[in-house]
Amino acid sequence: METTDGRIYQAIAFGWRLLTWFFPPRCLGCGIHGANLCADCAAAAERISGFVCRRCGKPLGADNVCPLCSRLEKIYFERVRSAFAYEDLIREAIHQFKFKRKLELSLLFANEIFSVYLTQKWPIDLVVPTPISRERRNERGYNQTEWVARTFAIRAELPYSATGLQKLRETESQSSLNEAERRRNLDGAFEAERITVQGKSILVVDDVLTTGTTMNECARALKKAGAGSVYGLTIAATKNRV
Ligand SMILES: [Zn+2]
Ligand SMILES: [Zn+2]
Repeated sequence: METTDGRIYQAIAFGWRLLTWFFPPRCLGCGIHGANLCADCAAAAERISGFVCRRCGKPLGADNVCPLCSRLEKIYFERVRSAFAYEDLIREAIHQFKFKRKLELSLLFANEIFSVYLTQKWPIDLVVPTPISRERRNERGYNQTEWVARTFAIRAELPYSATGLQKLRETESQSSLNEAERRRNLDGAFEAERITVQGKSILVVDDVLTTGTTMNECARALKKAGAGSVYGLTIAATKNRV
């Protein structure tokens, strides 16, 4: 486990600014030089707001029923909240962040989930990223969620662990599977380190909340290893698709 420090955050932020000064990226939204997503485009992007489920933070349907919680058989997390709606520009930014090494975006994403975190009163002891399998890490070279989770933890001055939660094997893409298949697909895929999480209140950081199956399976693994409670923050959430 690492103890985090606000000064490290300042140093990382300064380093990024320096790097982008010499190698200015272009904004995915308006094309202006200086950032992968400029402050104006980020400010204009749709946030998750209005009537949301108390438990998972998803926008409620017209019938006030949560499309996510009503589908999960058993819910293992206490609360989840998301910053952006997973639409248009944010969808593209997360895709680039995940697959095209636009890691500079981790600062913006961490700031956004930090703002959401400040609106909640969650008693958090430890921050962990949603893990990827070893095969996936070798193939991609990085876990984008680690970048956001670590930057967030430094910002929020919370302890962070990259190993508290692990993904033991590679799983199929979830997008074409129904809820029962998703659960089977992820069954036993995650495992938490008892020594790191036991008795603690854990915050899991992920990029997108879609059906909630991944977040729920992470929470299940953490509780199985003795975690007292599990909260989640994601950069974005799908509004309608579950
Ligand atoms: Zn822009
Ligand atoms: Zn819900």
